[in-house]
Amino acid sequence: MRKPMLAGNWKMNKTRDEAIQFVLAVEGNLPASIDCVVCAPAIILRDIVKRAETLKVGAQNMNENESGAYTGEISPVMLKDTQVEYVILGHSERRAYYNETNEKINAKIKKALEFELKPIVCVGEVLEERETGKTYDVLKEQVVKAFDGVTIKNPADVIIAYEPVWAIGTGKTATTEVAEDACKFIRGVLADIFGKAVADELRILYGGSMKPSNVGELMSEPDIDGGLVGGASLKADSFIELCTTAA
Ligand code: 13P
Repeated sequence: MRKPMLAGNWKMNKTRDEAIQFVLAVEGNLPASIDCVVCAPAIILRDIVKRAETLKVGAQNMNENESGAYTGEISPVMLKDTQVEYVILGHSERRAYYNETNEKINAKIKKALEFELKPIVCVGEVLEERETGKTYDVLKEQVVKAFDGVTIKNPADVIIAYEPVWAIGTGKTATTEVAEDACKFIRGVLADIFGKAVADELRILYGGSMKPSNVGELMSEPDIDGGLVGGASLKADSFIELCTTAA
């Protein structure tokens, strides 16, 4: 059985004080039956980890090297030291604004797993790719290249997020049919790589304008195991509602 997950991606939002207020407000109000996660800016991760009890904590990116001359970067060693559990890798904003390639994301996944950090690997097509019928090709290439040579020891520790780029921050949520179709396709690609038994245990999240009003319907689909939520994860009451509805 796949344990549902609701992960908030705060992106470049929240000061330390705002983050602490958030944690204090949500603790005690989260369902135990699902993994509730916030992926916060690196500079406030330690403050969140210190106060989080049932809430789980993740980073939003990670360099694929352990240390060295990479000005401005955060290493897996540092994330481990901060005691975060998850790390988002290959978010479409990193791909688009910071030129992250499938090859780089592959190196990051390998390094994250080596350091026992649980990767949340993002894939998804842009609008033009969907409109020209390339969605499956794009998703397949992203998944195959991301997981090239990756060994999965514990499938519960590797998460894939399907985030159609046209649905991110636009208010245009994918219909449940479109989201399920893509997640099912991704699970099929994962089955080709890792075998059906492993693919059946990997969690696949949907992301893109998810909110309390649509999380229930999206998660009622067989291949959608949770959500990766941007805007609607920023307020404590909305995050609690997302998590309780997802549970
Ligand atoms: P929104 O929920 O704001 O559309 O963002 C989705 C996202 O990019 C999560 O990683």
